[in-house]
Amino acid sequence: MKIGALEAGGTKMVCAIGDEDGSILKREVFPTQTPDITMPLLIDFFMDEGIDALGIGCFGPIDPNKCSATYGYITSTPKLPWKNYNIVKTFSEALNIPIGFDTDVNAAALGEAAWGALKDCEVGIYITIGTGIGVGVCINGNPLHGLIHPEAGHILIRKMANDNYKGKCPYHSDCFEGLASGPAIEDRWGKKAYDLKDVPEVWDLEADYIAQALVNYILCYSPNRIVLGGGVMHQDQLFALIREKVTEYLGGYVRSDAIIKHIDEYIVPTGLGEDSGIKGSIRLGYMAYHNLI
Ligand code: ADP
Ligand code: ZN
Repeated sequence: MKIGALEAGGTKMVCAIGDEDGSILKREVFPTQTPDITMPLLIDFFMDEGIDALGIGCFGPIDPNKCSATYGYITSTPKLPWKNYNIVKTFSEALNIPIGFDTDVNAAALGEAAWGALKDCEVGIYITIGTGIGVGVCINGNPLHGLIHPEAGHILIRKMANDNYKGKCPYHSDCFEGLASGPAIEDRWGKKAYDLKDVPEVWDLEADYIAQALVNYILCYSPNRIVLGGGVMHQDQLFALIREKVTEYLGGYVRSDAIIKHIDEYIVPTGLGEDSGIKGSIRLGYMAYHNLI
């Protein structure tokens, strides 16, 4: 079976053709411009490939609820040309095949659950810490939606006493994303994040905020494992700091060996490298074809 996949991001659109095992047979990247310019290029890419289904992991917020009047829309995005744009309808009319549609982070969680570090997890969480902070949750191989979809990058956490930064989230200022995204690090310290590698207080503070968020997710969702990805996590010294602080903040309350004895295997980098999102989009296409979503 041939499956089309689109990882739709605010700066680039990654298109791929894959199969039901998650192998990528062909891939091309297009810059994200306006729908008028970009959509015909994407449709051209998929048009003559003979794909059976398409999966879209999309920047958001989106409406993934099939019963809703605005299903398939990118809704309240600050990327204005795409605001209230029905991306599913455009592809559906052009390609006339089943389409799976979800957030970029739910797609990444799904990819990790199908073929990566969240395999065999009843509850798996994928977090990207990059330009924004996004959280995808997979339960028994299905992305979690509920009301709309989780927006757990915007949870409220305790600001450290020594942190005078006001926060960068346009909606909540000092939510998790407002305090810990890549741009927040760069705004607070006045340097590119990758140029701050040797400044320990940067990563100490960053690890603290990430650990607080993880503790909240552990307490709310009881995940079997947590995957951390995104540009900021290229600072791999963060992993040890985060594991230490999660252990400290949990205070021995969650009595699981996965956390108490094996935290190195509990909070982990992506299993699929940079491909979690695009492979998850392949999986979304597969699930749409088989009516699994
Ligand atoms: P996006 O979130 O836009 O999909 P990324 O996950 O690559 O993209 O995140 C980009 C952000 O991650 C940049 O704005 C930068 O702040 C941060 N970043 C990228 N590379 C590094 C690095 N090596 N170390 C620390 N931060 C980085
Ligand atoms: Zn916010």
